Amino acid sequence: MTLSQLARSIAESPTLRLNEEAQDLREKGEPVIHLGIGEPKNKTPIGAVLSAGARLNEGNIKYTPTDGIPSLKKAILRYTEESYDRLVAPENIIVSSGAKQALFNLFYTLLNPQEEVIILAPYWVSYPEMVRMVYGVPVIVTPEDGTFHPRMEDIERKVSSYTRAIVVNSPNNPSGMVFSEDFIGQVVQFCERKKIYLIMDDIYHKLVFDGKTAPPGYRFTRQTPDETYVIVVNGISKLYGMTGFRVGWAVAPRKIVEIMTNVQAQTTSCPSLILQAGAEGALTGMQSIVEGLRLTIQNNRDVTMQELQSFRDVRTPRPEGTFYCLPDFRAYAQDSVELSNFLLRKALVVTIPGSEFGMEGHLRLSYSGTVKEITEGIARIKWALDPESPNEIYIGDRKMVRDWL
Ligand code: PMP
Repeated sequence: MTLSQLARSIAESPTLRLNEEAQDLREKGEPVIHLGIGEPKNKTPIGAVLSAGARLNEGNIKYTPTDGIPSLKKAILRYTEESYDRLVAPENIIVSSGAKQALFNLFYTLLNPQEEVIILAPYWVSYPEMVRMVYGVPVIVTPEDGTFHPRMEDIERKVSSYTRAIVVNSPNNPSGMVFSEDFIGQVVQFCERKKIYLIMDDIYHKLVFDGKTAPPGYRFTRQTPDETYVIVVNGISKLYGMTGFRVGWAVAPRKIVEIMTNVQAQTTSCPSLILQAGAEGALTGMQSIVEGLRLTIQNNRDVTMQELQSFRDVRTPRPEGTFYCLPDFRAYAQDSVELSNFLLRKALVVTIPGSEFGMEGHLRLSYSGTVKEITEGIARIKWALDPESPNEIYIGDRKMVRDWL
């Protein structure tokens, strides 16, 4: 059987694979703790449920316009105005099945084969794979000062005549960093000067802690919505904990939206009407849900940081947003895939290897679960790795004895 070399070279999504593995273990009755996936525990906001339910009850579920139903686009337009003080037109918006699809369509629309996209490490795993899927070349920029905060000089060194876009994700998955106003200002100006598209993945932009906000790219552009090089991708997955609805969007100059719409028309026709109605219900419903979620996650961040302090040799830059952190476990292991597998086998804790995000020696931990899961999960990791911790622990109702340190 001959299959596409490119397709075969695309890595499976480590988070989704580990999620399935954890699910399998759970079904076998194993007390697995999942510090892998980023998915808040909240119930779907009632506004979303009612709105999706009403559409379903009408019993008339058909195709929608490819770029989304006008009422949802209007809600996104208002959201853009309220969040960024930026007025765009409905023609600047396309709704997709998740921010993931919006990003894929965007790369497909912007790139010719062999053109490059700058991706800042640590990065979300899907960016490099998506760029490769459209025959582009991901160019990874790792901060040379050893921090998780990108620097303009590192980026400029990697920009070439093939560079078509730079992806910026702040607050950042997986580090939790919020990038500084100075950096965002510089990168916007650089991109507009060089005519390079700046893709702002703002999926976590409301999940910022300690009274801070994430400086948005739009703040620094003087160009109109149809001329700007700043493109914003967002969605409801993290904002309202509505990951299963699969609704996201992009805001871009209309000539880009037009092409993205053609691409989407030929692949999925349109996002599901019911789910678009749900997204509209969330965006136009009670917004206190977003703040409630933020406070819960901020508390989880505090608990996580406190628990991680009990490791003498693990350094974790304090996350300023998202529900992830990226502790440095190099004092215990150099190979993060091995370490993550070891922790799943011995301690039944799911973590994601840092190598997936371009940061070997680290593990990504998600604190989107409950406080109990966080404290117990980190206690198990400590038991498995730290010879100074007691060598017995209860995992579920089984007493486990550490015999490998
Ligand atoms: N961007 C980032 C940085 C993410 O972490 C995720 C989800 N993990 C997405 C985009 C995709 O979000 P969606 O569920 O809307 O496809």
